[in-house]
Amino acid sequence: LFVTFEGGDGVGKSTQARLLEEWLTSAGRIVLRTREPGGTEVGELIRDIVLHHRGEVAPRAEALLYAADRAHHVATVVRPALARGEVVIQDRYLDSSIAYQGSGRVLGADDVRRLSVWAAEGLLPDLTVLLDLDHDIARDRLNADDKPFDRLEAEQSDFHERVREAFLGLAAAEPERFLVLDASAPADELAAAVRDRIETLLTP
Ligand code: C5P
Repeated sequence: LFVTFEGGDGVGKSTQARLLEEWLTSAGRIVLRTREPGGTEVGELIRDIVLHHRGEVAPRAEALLYAADRAHHVATVVRPALARGEVVIQDRYLDSSIAYQGSGRVLGADDVRRLSVWAAEGLLPDLTVLLDLDHDIARDRLNADDKPFDRLEAEQSDFHERVREAFLGLAAAEPERFLVLDASAPADELAAAVRDRIETLLTP
């Protein structure tokens, strides 16, 4: 089972990924929790480039770096874990590329989707949880948590609005794969909604 969490910065993806991992582990499942960009040694190097040289990297180069990270991560970590029968829980995947590089950076959703699907050799998640939240609320949350949000400020708010709309459009186009949740709800309520959906996937 391959589950991904998607949404803008500060919406609570990592928290929900961790809560789902705890629940599945306590139910006796073997879980691999990972993330993109990152998730491998090579991926962490790429993460460093895309996050710390943001704005210097040309948009197409950035899209290719995310795709390179994904190709390596899927081939060396995600597919082997799925083949071992593990549950893979991943913070961001190809929908992030379609939303951020495709719509945010205006490279075109279709081209970025083709690139991502090629990089991932066609691997799609069984479930994608989209945590939807207004960007201003997400930024205030990151502030309250004392997490750096300079990368958020570095982008214009219309960038984040495009990204949010792109995620919602992707979810509307594939309702079977997506679970869209209002991320302003309390974390335990969101976790319960995720568990309900996962249970339907785990029971044959
Ligand atoms: O969620 P995480 O902290 O891993 O994301 C790192 C940053 O990379 C975020 O600020 C996000 O906006 C950006 N990102 C991106 N394109 C992707 C994935 C992440 O611009 N495909």
